[in-house]
Amino acid sequence: MSRLIVVSNRVAASEKAGAASMGGLTMALSDALAFSDGVWFGWSGKTGPATDRPDIRSQNGVTIATLDLEAQDVSEYYNGFANTVLWPLFHHRIDLARYERAFGDGYQRVNERFAAALCDLVRPDDVLWVHDYHLMPLALALRRRGLTNRIGFFLHIPWPARELLVTLPQHQALVRSLFAYDLIGFQCEEWRRAFQAYVEIEAAGRVQSSGRISAFGESTTTGVFPIGIDARGFAAIAASPGATRSYTRAAATGVFRSMIISVDRVDYAKGLEARFMAIERLLETYPDMIEKAFLLQVAQPSRPEVRAFAELHPRLDALSGRINGRFATVDWTPIRYLNRSYGRDHLAGLYRAARVGLVTPLRDGMNLVAKEYVAAQDPQDPGVLILSRFAGAAEQMDQALIVNPYSLEDVADAIVRAIRMPKPERIARWRTMMDDIERHDAAAWRSDFLRALRSTTPQVSAAQASVIKPSATEGQGGGGSRVGFG
Ligand code: UDP
Repeated sequence: MSRLIVVSNRVAASEKAGAASMGGLTMALSDALAFSDGVWFGWSGKTGPATDRPDIRSQNGVTIATLDLEAQDVSEYYNGFANTVLWPLFHHRIDLARYERAFGDGYQRVNERFAAALCDLVRPDDVLWVHDYHLMPLALALRRRGLTNRIGFFLHIPWPARELLVTLPQHQALVRSLFAYDLIGFQCEEWRRAFQAYVEIEAAGRVQSSGRISAFGESTTTGVFPIGIDARGFAAIAASPGATRSYTRAAATGVFRSMIISVDRVDYAKGLEARFMAIERLLETYPDMIEKAFLLQVAQPSRPEVRAFAELHPRLDALSGRINGRFATVDWTPIRYLNRSYGRDHLAGLYRAARVGLVTPLRDGMNLVAKEYVAAQDPQDPGVLILSRFAGAAEQMDQALIVNPYSLEDVADAIVRAIRMPKPERIARWRTMMDDIERHDAAAWRSDFLRALRSTTPQVSAAQASVIKPSATEGQGGGGSRVGFG
């Protein structure tokens, strides 16, 4: 059994993390790492002098290797290219993207530094699994240093439409760099199709039905691996004392009223403003819902250093205040806006107390809240999930009420339908979704991806690796092996 090396921007495992605080993804990866005596590598989250030497410690059978980044790296790589270029672009908000060359330089620099540090850790038969948009060029940086191991990449966010991707000055270098991976995993077919369309049209590539794809004189494999949650674990958390307390408290304040729950980071892609307006439209169109239904919005602060995220706060404050001022009565408020984060046990109780789970992102790689809402329900009396068609989860969860989050009427109508839905229909829809969530849980996602990665034909033989080492003209800075994003 070869060792697994997981690489992600941040290393999610923490000393104190127990089942209630660790997400299904973290748990699934930690289990696989512990099983293979593996390594989890990423940014420490701290700033410090530039270094290629990671801080190494052992935790629950896993080696944790972390690097500090310089303040300029955090600003250009993390807040810059990752979260002010790729995040808005991949979520179709090019109006919020800022294409600055310095951001591309920072992205390249940090990927090179990660590659340099990793090369010292990797053994010949290790398998590497790289996660997400922060690290797309990492495999190419590793190959250029001669690494021939199997390397897989999983994109947690959507892949954008070609017409938008080409607005990125470095679009071709970015896509081309992905061909250094042996396997590229997407959350759903729609994101994979968008990737294939780019490769076919912009790079005259060839796509085979097996998922094999060729362009730029290279080929790789694509696959679809929808992330799941630890469904049984989450259902158990929903029955824990912490969840029961939050359930009882929420249920008591919602007697004779229908609670609608939404849980999101404060992120423009999550559609919070449109959702608040849909609640307003609901109360305008269906006056019998006044004093009968309310939205409990858990809004977890996110990426406060990035302007487009920070600017959302005053807008949401004003919108919820205006709608509440317009409709609230002495003992009822239509939007309870909780601008903080909660532990998973607390959330599980809130999910269970809610008649409706309202998950309406404008664009989302998967959306785990949708799955957690379903897993937390009482099987005898489950609530109804309303789900945006633009979340990756919609491909799997077709028993939810699927809505277009841009249409306030569509969302308002679905809320009324959910609240009025007879119990047998609620149970039938819930059962189908719950079976699927249990079957395709986080552990299945991890083993499906790793099995597919291990069965790929190795991307680069030792001989080829030396051929794609940097040419003299490319070899400036960054250890002489730049990838080309600046
Ligand atoms: N979450 C949490 N506390 C909060 C809000 C969210 O633990 O206050 C968790 C939530 O339970 C879920 C995750 O954060 O597991 C959000 O995942 P999702 O895929 O829905 O969205 P993302 O934030 O990854 O875009």
